[in-house]
Amino acid sequence: MTAAQPGAPPADGALTGGCLCGAVRYRITLPLVGRVSHCHCTMCRRAAGAVAVTWLTVRRAAFRLTGRPLTVHRSSDHGERGFCGVCGSPVTFWTRQDSDLIDVTVGTLDHPDALPAEEHIWTGSRLPWLHLDTHLPDRPADTDGGA
Ligand SMILES: [Zn+2]
Ligand SMILES: [Zn+2]
Repeated sequence: MTAAQPGAPPADGALTGGCLCGAVRYRITLPLVGRVSHCHCTMCRRAAGAVAVTWLTVRRAAFRLTGRPLTVHRSSDHGERGFCGVCGSPVTFWTRQDSDLIDVTVGTLDHPDALPAEEHIWTGSRLPWLHLDTHLPDRPADTDGGA
């Protein structure tokens, strides 16, 4: 596996990341909104092909694409998921219900080690055999409504 151009951590209070192939690149201006969450909902599971997906949330204006535009899939009547149209990496989630915010996959950060998860959400859908960060608080659902 080859990593897509991991840069040095930005020194100015920003985060950078991108997809597997490197076509999609982004920059996030801090601060984050809310907690970094492991999401166990069935839609994230399918969208990412992963047993849980870890998200950070920021103001929409704090997220800036610096490479190829995202391909967007409307995954529900109120939710849209942005991914790399070349390699398929899931990058963003946006919902009309919180239209000023955007969620970004922690796994696409250049330095995800700097942002440990702080909670689990949608644990009602959690796979019973998955044991991950078991010391963190659980929320059986989330305001995103599953999208
Ligand atoms: Zn890509
Ligand atoms: Zn989810």
